[in-house]
Amino acid sequence: MGLTRAGFVEACRGAGVGSGRADAMYRAVYAGKAEGGPDGWVEAWTPAPPSRVLESESPEGVVRKFLLPVPGPERSGGRELPEQLETESVVIPMRGRHATTHTLCVSSQVGCAMGCGFCETAQMGLIRSLSPAEIVAQWWAATHFLNATIKNIVFMGMGEPLDNPEGVIGAIETLTDRRGAAIAMKNITVSTVGRIDGLLALRERVVTDGWKRLNLAVSINAPNDEIRDSIMPINRAMPLGELVRVLEAWPLRPSGAICAEYVLIPGVNDRPEHADELAGLLKNIRCCVNVIPYNPRRNSPWPAPEEASVDAFLARLETRGQFCKRRRTKGRDSMAACGQLGNEQIRGRRLVQVGLQ
Ligand code: SF4
Repeated sequence: MGLTRAGFVEACRGAGVGSGRADAMYRAVYAGKAEGGPDGWVEAWTPAPPSRVLESESPEGVVRKFLLPVPGPERSGGRELPEQLETESVVIPMRGRHATTHTLCVSSQVGCAMGCGFCETAQMGLIRSLSPAEIVAQWWAATHFLNATIKNIVFMGMGEPLDNPEGVIGAIETLTDRRGAAIAMKNITVSTVGRIDGLLALRERVVTDGWKRLNLAVSINAPNDEIRDSIMPINRAMPLGELVRVLEAWPLRPSGAICAEYVLIPGVNDRPEHADELAGLLKNIRCCVNVIPYNPRRNSPWPAPEEASVDAFLARLETRGQFCKRRRTKGRDSMAACGQLGNEQIRGRRLVQVGLQ
């Protein structure tokens, strides 16, 4: 897991397995038909099931957050950490005209080093980055343990994806392999706080064939450096002006647009003049502002915004000519909404368990 079909065939060749058989094994593993195998070759390959599944209702169906066990870091850096960690992923239903499909929100790290003030995961600090295999395993578990039909994948779970570019780029290569998971590149979104070094690394890929339809989401969250410094420490090292310049030159396909995420936090970034300033900041970027009503993390200093202030902010952006939309909040009850992933044992707090399969 975590290898493309070509990488797997190559690895098998080294072990004396021919390409035809390797190809069949690869397809079977990704199709979830591997158990037992024709001659027992997969007996050693048993993906670990989720250690927990938590559910909550949403208007479009049940949102499921699941945790997969992964080994702890080789070096703890002086912190007391468990030998076993967990990745956190969320399966979000999307009711279509004919069928319900799912968006899978995956983690790219356990914990996160970015320290955003509104985020649950930030409370953990970074424990370690995930390998391509550990990221792809989240798709496998959602598809074959939870029986979800995964159409979209968003890198919006625990971690900053561009703090782990090798893991994320390797996972995307595998997830889009047509002989395996076969997720369409246009249905994958990488969401970043705006790490400029990582964006430049990703850009190298995005200009190559097969990657041009990858979607980019950037957490802007503030109309100016003063506010952004106060809620996103990354901004002190990589300020908005530099980020905006990189995004203005981002290689978009003709109909493409960047998603500019904006978590609306009462009393922090929700005033009408903030909307005006934001529209001015983004005026040369082909983007849609995705306004996300803040989901209070545990012990949050801020409440969730009132409906009226969310509507007013969106309306103000529109009058300034900024294309924008509102993200519906699904999964707030099971702490599975944006910025709310994070292992409660490491933080020493209890998770509200809503349902268990
Ligand atoms: S919002 Fe994202 S980048 Fe910021 S601390 Fe949370 S997981 Fe990390």
